[in-house]
Amino acid sequence: MSGQKSKSAGLDEFEIIAEYFAPLSLGLDGAVGLSDDGAVLDRAGAGGDEHLAVTTDTFVAGVHYLADTRSQLIAQKLLRVNLSDLAAMGARPYAYNLSLALNDRVDSDWLAGFARGLAIEQENWGIGLVGGDTVRTPGPVTLTVSMFGHLAPERRLLRSGAQPGDAIYVSGTIGDASLGLQVLDGKIIVENTVDAAFLKDRHYLPTPRISLSAAIAAWASAGIDISDGLVADLGHICAASKCGAEIRLEDIPFSDSARKVIDRATEGNVTFVDLLGGGDDYELLFVVPADEAERVEAVCADDGTPVARIGTILGSEEGIRVVDRNNQTLELKSRGYRHF
Ligand code: ADP
Ligand code: MG
Repeated sequence: MSGQKSKSAGLDEFEIIAEYFAPLSLGLDGAVGLSDDGAVLDRAGAGGDEHLAVTTDTFVAGVHYLADTRSQLIAQKLLRVNLSDLAAMGARPYAYNLSLALNDRVDSDWLAGFARGLAIEQENWGIGLVGGDTVRTPGPVTLTVSMFGHLAPERRLLRSGAQPGDAIYVSGTIGDASLGLQVLDGKIIVENTVDAAFLKDRHYLPTPRISLSAAIAAWASAGIDISDGLVADLGHICAASKCGAEIRLEDIPFSDSARKVIDRATEGNVTFVDLLGGGDDYELLFVVPADEAERVEAVCADDGTPVARIGTILGSEEGIRVVDRNNQTLELKSRGYRHF
C-alpha cells in the first residue's frame, strides 16, 4: 500500500501480514513466508503437462455476507466458493492469494477469527496462502481470493459442450442455502432447531464438489457450479453450449429440511419452484452424453457424492423449461441472483 500505512486494530499492514497471514504460507516453498514482493511457484505444483486453472471471487460486507457474520465463517466461505469454482473447472486446488480492504470495524479478534477460518480450510483442502494485498478502505470490508489449481487440459470442464439429448445431473440438494439465508434474515421461521441449523449451515459452509468434479470430468460434456441458482446456472451452460434444456421438478433433489419448510409454507411463502432460483448452493451441475449416464452414476457412487439426474439438454429453439409430473411447464418467478 502506498501513502499512509494502513492501520487496523492498532496494527499496521505489515504487522497484520506477519502476525495473521504469514503463518498460513509456510507449507509452500515459493511463497517465502509472504516476505518478498510476490511468490514464485514451481509450475504452481502442477505435474506433467497439467495446466494451471485460476479463479477469483470477491465478498463485500453487507452484500455477500451479513455484516455481523463471524469472521471465521466468512473466511471459510470465501475459500469454499473459490474452491467451488475450481471444481466447476475440473481442477485440483493448490494455492491462493488474498486481497483485503479493511475498515475501522476490523479489530484483532476479527482478524484472528478470519485467519482461523483460513487455516481450517487450508487443512481441509490441502491449500496454502502465497500472497495478497492489505489495504484500508473507508467503505465496506472487501475480501478477494484468487485461487490456483491444476488440471489435465483434456479434462477441463467447460460450460460449452452440452449436446441435445445429453443428461443433466446435479449434486447434493438444491435451495438449502437460500432458505438458510431467509432463516437468518428472519424472513421465514423454522421452529425445529435441527432443520434451522442445517439450513443456516448450508448457507455459511457450502461443500465444494472437488472430488466429484475430478471423477466426472472425463465424461462430462459441460459443467458449472450453482452460485446464482439452478435455473440461472443451467442458463449459463445453455448459452455457452447454444442449446436448450428441460428439467423435471419431481427429480430435483431437495433436503428433508427444505421439504419440511415448503410443506408447512402457506400462501405467499416459498415454493419448490422458488428454490430453483435460489443462489449460493455451490453444488455441481453437469451434463453427460446419455449413453455414459450409467457409468457416470457408478463413478459418482464410488466418490460417495449423491447426484440426481434432473433433465435433458434440448435444441436451442426449445429454450429452458421446468416441467411438473404432468409435463406442464411451470412459471418461474426468479431466474436467479443478478448483481447488476
Ligand atoms: P507491495 O508493496 O510490493 O505490494 P506488500 O507490502 O503489499 O507488497 O506485500 C508484501 C508481501 O505480503 C507480498 O508478498 C504480498 O503478496 C504479501 N501480502 C500482503 N497482504 C497479504 C494478505 N492479505 N495475504 C497474504 N499475503 C499478503
Ligand atoms: Mg501491496
